[in-house]
Amino acid sequence: MTTAFNLDIHNAGIDGKILASLERVSQAFRVLLWNESKEYSLSPIQVQVLVFLLHHAAPMRKVSYLADEFNITRASISDTIKSLERKALIYKEVIQNDTRSFVMHLTPKGMALAKRISLFANHILSPIEQMSESEKESFLFNLLNIIHYLNKAGIITIQRMCFTCQHYQHGKNKNSHYCKLLNTRLSEKDLRIDCPEHIMSSE
Ligand code: SF4
Repeated sequence: MTTAFNLDIHNAGIDGKILASLERVSQAFRVLLWNESKEYSLSPIQVQVLVFLLHHAAPMRKVSYLADEFNITRASISDTIKSLERKALIYKEVIQNDTRSFVMHLTPKGMALAKRISLFANHILSPIEQMSESEKESFLFNLLNIIHYLNKAGIITIQRMCFTCQHYQHGKNKNSHYCKLLNTRLSEKDLRIDCPEHIMSSE
């Protein structure tokens, strides 16, 4: 049986090398995340939740949403939340008219820590910044296509990207994009991966 991790396949064509390269980059994320976690005596998922809470609006700061966002169970995310509460990094606000549901907020201590740790992946930004604008646009477009495919295949859940948004419209060719909400054409560099105005398309 062939496998994408077979070295003969890797070295024979470009597809396997791209796959292996994506795996190395994801390994770099894991290493950087792990280093940050150790530095502040947090688990990797605690770091990810703090950074997520720092940058996302209240409707996304609920247990069910976080469980989907990080592809983990509600029980696991509830444990993470309890632990962050014990460390006085977050607090819960019960939603009016729904006492079983709550939104998480960062405490001032949690906010300061989240700002510091949100820089954990900056090492990966350096080589990206070295690319030309056209290389970046093409790289972004291809990554968005991979993420969209993985989302449609049910491998990764929530995506707040243009390709899954109700407001998104394809132009006549595959490189032409339009946002009906912003009422504007989007160039490839304008395509969003995490848009606050995103509404999941039913298609
Ligand atoms: S609302 Fe945001 S995600 Fe949706 S199409 Fe417009 S820019 Fe893209």
